[in-house]
Amino acid sequence: MNDPLLSSENREAHAAALAAATAEVSRYLDGRTTPRSPASPSALAAQTAAVDLSAPLGTLDKALEEVRELYLDHAVGYHHPRYLAHLNCPITIPAVAAEALATSVNTAVETWDQGTSACLIEQKLIHWVTDLIGFDGSGRPDGVFTTGGTASNLQGLFTAREDRLSRPAPGGDDTGDRCARLPGLRIVTGEHAHLSVVKAARLLGLAPDAVVTLPGDGDRMDPATLDRMLSTLADAGHEVAAVVALAGTTDHGAIDPLRAVGEVCRRHDVWMHVDAAYGGGLLVSPTRRDLLDGVDLADSVTVDFHKTFFLPVAASALLLRDGSGFRHSTVSADYLNPADGDDHAVDKSLQTTRRFDALKLWMTLRVMGADGIGRLLDGAIDVAARIGRTVDADAELELVRVPALSTVLFRPRPAGADGRPVSDDESDALVRPIRDALFAAGRSLVAATVVDGRPCLKLTVLDPTLADEDVAAVLADVRTAARYLAAGMREATTAGVLT
Ligand SMILES: *Cc1c(COP(=O)(O)O)cnc(C)c1O
Repeated sequence: MNDPLLSSENREAHAAALAAATAEVSRYLDGRTTPRSPASPSALAAQTAAVDLSAPLGTLDKALEEVRELYLDHAVGYHHPRYLAHLNCPITIPAVAAEALATSVNTAVETWDQGTSACLIEQKLIHWVTDLIGFDGSGRPDGVFTTGGTASNLQGLFTAREDRLSRPAPGGDDTGDRCARLPGLRIVTGEHAHLSVVKAARLLGLAPDAVVTLPGDGDRMDPATLDRMLSTLADAGHEVAAVVALAGTTDHGAIDPLRAVGEVCRRHDVWMHVDAAYGGGLLVSPTRRDLLDGVDLADSVTVDFHKTFFLPVAASALLLRDGSGFRHSTVSADYLNPADGDDHAVDKSLQTTRRFDALKLWMTLRVMGADGIGRLLDGAIDVAARIGRTVDADAELELVRVPALSTVLFRPRPAGADGRPVSDDESDALVRPIRDALFAAGRSLVAATVVDGRPCLKLTVLDPTLADEDVAAVLADVRTAARYLAAGMREATTAGVLT
């Protein structure tokens, strides 16, 4: 390209480039009969390795053509009706338009003199979300956009740690030696906490055994067990930095009894963090907001907009009941954010340069309204319930849980050699190979996990428009793979039957 830098002089080239990219997306959407191509990892690796990065192609068209073959033809299509694997949502069109805008204007939401109106839009959305949560208390709620639930949980737990260490040490009247207090800090959570809680504890310099996992009441945290654990830890001289309650566990979609957990936390004067990375969309659900009853008692909340608000990756937020907690994340520098009384976004963020991800939430909200977004999740939850009933009625499949949110957990029960359904152990041994066979064929994508110590298959449903025939096709692929694998015919499954 003669002049690749975007300016008023070459705005036509910008428009043409976006049109060309849009045409590629149309082709990608139109040509997709399966959620993924059956290309093998080694074939894709060889194709990528063969690109000579020292030999530029010179034109956008050629680069797009290359990217089509390297990426678009093989990208996993989360929008596809037979993609039912992980927590990746179909995305709203207004959000995609917002992404094009935000990227082309390239605002860094960082300081007032860089972000101006983008900072205001972001801040208005933050208060929209804190109002939805309805934080109970006297502090002024505040929040910050982050790159995902992992980052939101990290900053939530960091803020909780700092809040704890800024208060007097147990049995003393000053804060004491923070290095001496660090090894005794604990984070208490349920059995099904996300891996990011353990990762955060590591990054926060806590002890290797700092995350205390409570046995649950089913898939949910038991407030009475929590109450006893907090007393036990205090008696043993530990300080609890935070209790992490879940509003939607990644596998089960289970929501902890937030109000009861919040009351226990307040009684023990312990920070309550609610990880609503998955269940956060219920904040705008017209019919199921009550599932989050008690979230208002939280000190901090993680919400992922790129899961149940149907926005493109990446968009998440950490919300604080008392926004003054962000002072722990603030470092002032003369060249950027001098302590001059101005509100700077960077004063609250762990990032410095930060994308204007808020715009895609803004545009989606302004087009569809909160109810419009919430109805998408409601629809997905209804579809998951329907799939649960279908699986339950299927003689070759065994429903492991009645869906709590929008995941369906089940096990394969094909007929064994004696014509009767395979045993538990045989079913266990089939789960991974079924998932792998489906992935290799690319026609139906499902996830695998472990529930109650046993492997099982998982469907994550985030498409409210999913048709029964697509569900039937996915379940048929699972049954076919299960039968062939149970009969020891692995090759037939991957090579022929499912392609
Ligand atoms: C997905 C998820 C996370 C992590 O969020 P990312 O956006 O992937 O970083 C954290 N907690 C729960 C419960 C999740 O489901």
